Amino acid sequence: MTTWPPQYDDTYLPANDQEYWFPEQETETPEARTERVLEKIRGQMGWAYNRSPFYKRLWDAVGISPAGIQTMDDFHRVPIITKDDLRQDLIDNPPYGSNICDDWSAIERIHGSSGTTGIPTVLAISRGDWQRIGNAHARVMWAAGIRPTDMVFMASPFSLYMGSWGALVGAERIRARCFPFGAGSPGQTKMAVRWIQATNPTVFYGTPSFALYLAETAREQGVDPKSFGFRVLFFSGEPGASIPATREKLHSTFGASIIDMGSTGEMSPWMTNGGCSHSPGMHLWQDIVFTELVDPITKQVVPYGAEGVPIYTHLERSSQPLIRFWSGDISRWTDDPCPCGRTYPRLPMGIYGRVDDMVTVRGENVYPSAVENVIRGMPELTGEFRLIVSRERIMDELTILAEFAEEYVGAGDASRNGIKASLEGKLAATLGIRARVDLKGPGELERTQFKAKRVIDERELRS
Ligand SMILES: [Zn+2]
Repeated sequence: MTTWPPQYDDTYLPANDQEYWFPEQETETPEARTERVLEKIRGQMGWAYNRSPFYKRLWDAVGISPAGIQTMDDFHRVPIITKDDLRQDLIDNPPYGSNICDDWSAIERIHGSSGTTGIPTVLAISRGDWQRIGNAHARVMWAAGIRPTDMVFMASPFSLYMGSWGALVGAERIRARCFPFGAGSPGQTKMAVRWIQATNPTVFYGTPSFALYLAETAREQGVDPKSFGFRVLFFSGEPGASIPATREKLHSTFGASIIDMGSTGEMSPWMTNGGCSHSPGMHLWQDIVFTELVDPITKQVVPYGAEGVPIYTHLERSSQPLIRFWSGDISRWTDDPCPCGRTYPRLPMGIYGRVDDMVTVRGENVYPSAVENVIRGMPELTGEFRLIVSRERIMDELTILAEFAEEYVGAGDASRNGIKASLEGKLAATLGIRARVDLKGPGELERTQFKAKRVIDERELRS
């Protein structure tokens, strides 16, 4: 590669029976890939440094220059940027921030992402970026098994949800037929059943929970979801497609190949964590968006096999590039070979947690989502819960507050003790550590309208 941003030939298509979109790049050695990625990093950083006041300020302050990035160790020293940095830049430079590197005339579309807190993020994406997004997604979707002969039913919102737009241009670039159906309007799920029956799409895109809801709606109308005839279902927006129980449920419900995809809102529509049809989890398409997994505390890159926070770097984004962006998610990565032959590292369990929500108890990482799975799986409980971490002498203690369900209000101690023992047993098996259970009556734990704070770490309060 000699030019940045890279140029793609929009007329190129592999043969249908070919496994790879770009055979050489997808199967190259780690050393060759590192060289390819470093060259793209220098191109991307040089573009950003010359055109974005945001990066010029940030890197000048620590004496980093794009030309000085010769090795991965050099790159690991580039400052990490966070959501808060972007938010502050938007406040200081409304409404787009100081990171639009393209000329205004090159911008094709304005998109927004609606955060639940803070101010909205505005995306201004150039024509060139859309062309590269289409080519990137086509490559990733090809690995998912999608071909020009397919028709893709897109049951995701075409508004502020960016995943839909990336998947649409990717499917178009593959030359598949696209049905941008959308989701979320009243009655639309029932309509989806009829439209799928009428048009026979072969591929489904949406969230795992919506796919399961669609299946339920179909069955209520006497339609077996298998009769839809989907060959591939690919997902983003939720971790479910890499969670074994959900993945199996999706597979048995639709009788199709289940593929997880995604990244994080700020990086989208570059959805470059993407699974192949040969194994669960997702590949990291390192030559499109470069991903490092770092220790949540030291911010140093962790070895393969370890757990860490994905830090993402665009390599082909001319409009608003993010360089070493802290996702705040938690995942585990591996470089174990994949049967597909791609040499990209993988997130075998997808993205399964948020670093803000994790607590470490006696050396074990505990996620509220794991506790939630156990609690929500027991009909004897209301589903509301809290995690309390305390320290007694030198030992951490984990206490779970839960509520027994309404029908046990009049029941005796024996039946409540039975529920408590059953919950303790299930928590120990899931978390790998013993947790105490404090069982409350229904409605005793406070409910909140917004995101509930479910973790109370009393160790922090004392120190
Ligand atoms: Zn693979």
